[in-house]
Amino acid sequence: MNALRQWLAGGPGQVATRAAAAVALAWLVLLPSLGAGDSTLFTMTLMFTSVAVAINWNLTGGFTGYVDFGHAVWFGLGAYVTAILMSLQANSLGIGWPPVPAIVIGASAAGALAALIGRATMRLKGPYFSIAMLGTFVAVREIVRIWGGLTGGGVGLTLPPYLNRQLFYYVELVLVVGLAALVWWLRRTRFGAALVAIREDELGAEMRGIATTRLKVATFSFAGASTGLFGGLWAYQNTFVDPDIAFTEARTLDAIMGTLLGGLGTVAGPVLGSVALYWLREVLWANLLDYHLVAQGVLLILVVLLVPRGIVGAFDRRGRSVRRLWRSPPSGAGTPAGSPTEADLPDLPDGPDSPDLPDATHSGQAAAAGGTRGDRDRPGPGRAGLEGAGIVKRFGGLTAVDGVDIEVAPGEMVGLIGPNGSGKTTLFDCLSRVVNADGGAIRLDGADISGLAPHRVARLGVSRTFQIIRVYRDLTVRENMELSIQWGGIGLRGLFRRTDSATRAKAEQLMELLMLDGLSDEPAGTLSGGQRRLLEIGMALMSDPRLVLLDEATSGVNPSLVEDIKDRLRVINEQGVAFLLVEHNVGFVADLCERVVVLDAGSKLAEGTPRQVMDDPAVVEAYFGAAGRSGEAAAHDPGGRTEGCET
Ligand code: ADP
Ligand code: MG
Repeated sequence: MNALRQWLAGGPGQVATRAAAAVALAWLVLLPSLGAGDSTLFTMTLMFTSVAVAINWNLTGGFTGYVDFGHAVWFGLGAYVTAILMSLQANSLGIGWPPVPAIVIGASAAGALAALIGRATMRLKGPYFSIAMLGTFVAVREIVRIWGGLTGGGVGLTLPPYLNRQLFYYVELVLVVGLAALVWWLRRTRFGAALVAIREDELGAEMRGIATTRLKVATFSFAGASTGLFGGLWAYQNTFVDPDIAFTEARTLDAIMGTLLGGLGTVAGPVLGSVALYWLREVLWANLLDYHLVAQGVLLILVVLLVPRGIVGAFDRRGRSVRRLWRSPPSGAGTPAGSPTEADLPDLPDGPDSPDLPDATHSGQAAAAGGTRGDRDRPGPGRAGLEGAGIVKRFGGLTAVDGVDIEVAPGEMVGLIGPNGSGKTTLFDCLSRVVNADGGAIRLDGADISGLAPHRVARLGVSRTFQIIRVYRDLTVRENMELSIQWGGIGLRGLFRRTDSATRAKAEQLMELLMLDGLSDEPAGTLSGGQRRLLEIGMALMSDPRLVLLDEATSGVNPSLVEDIKDRLRVINEQGVAFLLVEHNVGFVADLCERVVVLDAGSKLAEGTPRQVMDDPAVVEAYFGAAGRSGEAAAHDPGGRTEGCET
């Protein structure tokens, strides 16, 4: 019912697109009865296979941004396991397994191996992952070649003939349409939105509570199983496998080219692109013979240069630029916070597909009420809060944090100041588990959290912002907000649901509070530095945190906005959220906090009320350095705007 409503609610373009899809589907269903011969049906089945492989490739390459150069390994594995089980040589009777269980086992084997290998290779980023997967592909193919007793070696295996092309045609049609529908649905769930968050900024996603490793490996494994399934079907139809035809690089390349042509990271992209590529190749082959691959290569280069967002991206900004395939995170790095250049970027046209937003949210109220799986170990209110004891962090010979004790009680607002390089950000990184501390303990309400993964810490209610802003740049402000939910509370069922109205309302409310409501449909990458800071604060608040660590929340923010931020933070604090504020703006900290901790060269130099620490001669000396004397007046005026004190 909901799906029908969405269908009808789309704009005229969307209705037209979907009508075209329905006509195409009807034609495909009727094709065998329209007099198509076996060879046509066979060609069509091969096309379905390349569409399916491209859809699966796009799950990791397009959605999570892990560009797999060895994806065909899963196809070959599915094909080989199926062939081994079914082959005539496999047993003395000359009759192998029946096809269905053989193909299912082939797919499962590919999925299981993908999970294992993905766990190892998906620790790698960018080109390293791609090359590792290419290596996996080559290694598996060689193992198949060498292990002749089982695989038939270079000679290959023969399967029993079965030539009902029409049945194959329909089976593959159903499977490929089902796969496309599944991916379409998945992309709209929190799971799908989380995959895109991983692509946009994996560390940021992890810090906001997304179990990134689990999700990306699960996706990789599913893609492996699904490609393995089509590999098994292909082996059955082909009635013969050998290492060169089952494991061919061209299959991976086709998946990549089809996806790029259609639109990387989109649902329809790999489908449209693979179909286009398939027919393009047929036409080129018929007309150019030996030169058809050259022509195909040239065409691909032209596509990347002229339509980097592919067919889908040409109509809809959701297509992801090929040129940014290996864009290095973090978002915002390299652009100084508040750089005005970003503010001047033209607005990208908004897509017509707002109903398709990744709705990844969850009712904050529900999380606060507790009772859900992720809240199990969430500490109750009114107790100790966050405590770092004797935190040490070394980088080579440099001790960036040297035995610091720091504590934030529930609902408290604590300032953390100190000259540049004194270790404030590193201390934040230790507390939020972005880095492993070399010593000391981190406790939340008395429970040791020193060994937890960052997303676990986030799920316990500690959220943070980053000195170098981390937002999901290709997603809209609203999507950024709705992705930053309390992931601990949603459970497995919630993961496969769309957002709920309570979270949408909450995002709306926070965007209004942070003066972002006019920008909710803008991609976050087009906001000014100051606006992105506000967005990051909003994202940190979406998860119903009990404590927020803000790293330089006002740096680069227009001074006229700083007062507003201060008021907003105060309001939020009054609602019971504790803050630990790293600030270079001493006046800002002095106005907000009852207690200030001063770091210098990795050690705690002073602690007390703003007045006490400002009056401390050691602080004045360390903090203001050579300019200390002239800065003293400001230091004695904690209410004043003492900005940019670093030397
Ligand atoms: P602050 O946030 O107070 O300006 P940081 O925590 O960023 O200080 O840095 C503390 C010290 O640690 C600095 O000397 C900095 O150069 C060093 N440092 C921070 N991160 C790294 C890193 N990843 N590798 C090596 N040194 C680092
Ligand atoms: Mg810093």
